[in-house]
Amino acid sequence: MRLVQGTAVSPGLALAPVHVVRASPAEVPTWSIPEDEVVRELDRLKRALDEARAELAARQRVVATETGEKDAEIFGVHRMILSDPGALAQVQRTIREERINSEAAVQALVRRMEQTLGKLEGSSVRNYAADLSEPWRYVLDALMRVERETLASGETRVILAAAELTPALMTYLPRERLLGVVTEAGGRFSHGAVLARSFGIPCVVGLPQLLGRLEQGMLLAVDGERGHVQLRPAEADVREFEERRERRAARVEVLSRVAGEPAVTTDGHRFGVQVNIESVRDFDTFDRRHTDGVGLLRTEFLYLERPQFPSEDEQFRLYRRVLERMDGQPVTLRTLDIGGDKRLPYFKTPPEPNPALGWRGIRITLQWQDLMQVQLRAALRAGAGRPLRILLPMVSSIEEIELTHRIFDSARASLVAQGHDVEREVPVGMMIEVPSVLFTLEHLVKHVDFVSVGTNDLVQYLLAADRDNPWVARLYEPQHPAVMRALAHVARVSNAARKPCAVCGDIADDPAIALFLLGVGFDSVSVAPNFVAEIKYAVRRTSRADARALADAVLACDDCESVRRTLADARARLQS
Ligand code: PEP
Ligand code: MG
Repeated sequence: MRLVQGTAVSPGLALAPVHVVRASPAEVPTWSIPEDEVVRELDRLKRALDEARAELAARQRVVATETGEKDAEIFGVHRMILSDPGALAQVQRTIREERINSEAAVQALVRRMEQTLGKLEGSSVRNYAADLSEPWRYVLDALMRVERETLASGETRVILAAAELTPALMTYLPRERLLGVVTEAGGRFSHGAVLARSFGIPCVVGLPQLLGRLEQGMLLAVDGERGHVQLRPAEADVREFEERRERRAARVEVLSRVAGEPAVTTDGHRFGVQVNIESVRDFDTFDRRHTDGVGLLRTEFLYLERPQFPSEDEQFRLYRRVLERMDGQPVTLRTLDIGGDKRLPYFKTPPEPNPALGWRGIRITLQWQDLMQVQLRAALRAGAGRPLRILLPMVSSIEEIELTHRIFDSARASLVAQGHDVEREVPVGMMIEVPSVLFTLEHLVKHVDFVSVGTNDLVQYLLAADRDNPWVARLYEPQHPAVMRALAHVARVSNAARKPCAVCGDIADDPAIALFLLGVGFDSVSVAPNFVAEIKYAVRRTSRADARALADAVLACDDCESVRRTLADARARLQS
């Protein structure tokens, strides 16, 4: 049995065959092919080649019609290159002899071509090298599609393995087919990780060199609590794993039986527990009566799943469905938060040297104001007669809030002029993610109706440690005294201004941290649905005075280790 230790990202236990994927066109991982799968692999390569040729022919036709036969000739040349039996034989030989996947074999061919021709003098020869390798990139893309179609048309439920934990990987397969996810790289609070927790799929990251050790279809046991992955577990390990899985399921069952009881402390203080959702599909994973509403609707996933920007009507229908499903409970709709690692395939932005510090969130929608207009119109129409709230991501200044209010007013005015029904008062709140906001909060808070802390981003900016970068994963420590004090400050300022304050970052899904947040004065938290029951249970077993004492103890800590220890003690008390 081989046990690999990584970083636990999403709790739960999964035991299933692994399926290795390439999650983004840029990455080409290598994995091993068992002897008896070589023929299937060669067949996969053949299908991908046929697809690539068909794609090139289609492009040739389009370009010929649009700009003329001459411009289209290059695609014909590319098709001829793909018909070269010598190159194909090399790729087939690599698959057979090295027993590696087609992607890696094609990549090896491309490298060889580039190296051989790249050594020759002259830019025209180097261009020729690029021309020779270019068509094989179509084969790489086709392999990804063929792989996905083959898997999606089967019945198997799998654990996905990939180089990186991206939102694309988390949506690679229908949810019911996905039992677990393991990746070589990826931060615990990356957007891919956020989705894993939200879907309730066990996930472990930080497993360098993993893919090279996997064979397609190999049995894996993923422990999303301890951050372990077992490759080909022995029978005894499988038995132990299944026993643990049953014990975990029993605990989840006990908690879910009392999940309907409100989160009221032993001294009668009500703490709000809301849910973070990404789509209407999330409604299958929780009972709305067990929550206090949606604290964060990440609308960007609606945009990510589409081939183009969703129209106002499309958005209206979706937001309306979310509000209807919540049946009178508040829904906090966050305006489009793209940029960083959430990139829309149809909204190409130039590569940025530092995307986390770049063009993202409200910075985009205030520049492309039509995006904001359309979304706010759709939201306002959907919110007629229902408790809608709007939340603005990545706010860093009063000017941004004021400009949003102006767009909001114009969206409302245009709807009224067109005879639509809209609410007079729709609360508008800001996310606290940019550290500068901590120092100006007294002023900013006067311009909004509520605040919600996005700790996933706040932590990365406060500690200057990228949430997606495995090399600084150890520095990305939410249980840092600076983070704890920043949170206490937000609660203090918001309470003084009598503005409701929440935390919707994933830090809040830890029951001990939720109690800390209650102790410093937050009104609510918003977490992925499968953490709701546990947090409510923790709140019901605690008095407000206990929560304040925990908060004081945490705030007295001046290093990460003491914060972690203090919270771990609180967690242990909750388990006892
Ligand atoms: C956050 O940053 O904590 C947050 C809730 O937003 P996201 O994770 O979608 O960036
Ligand atoms: Mg964020």
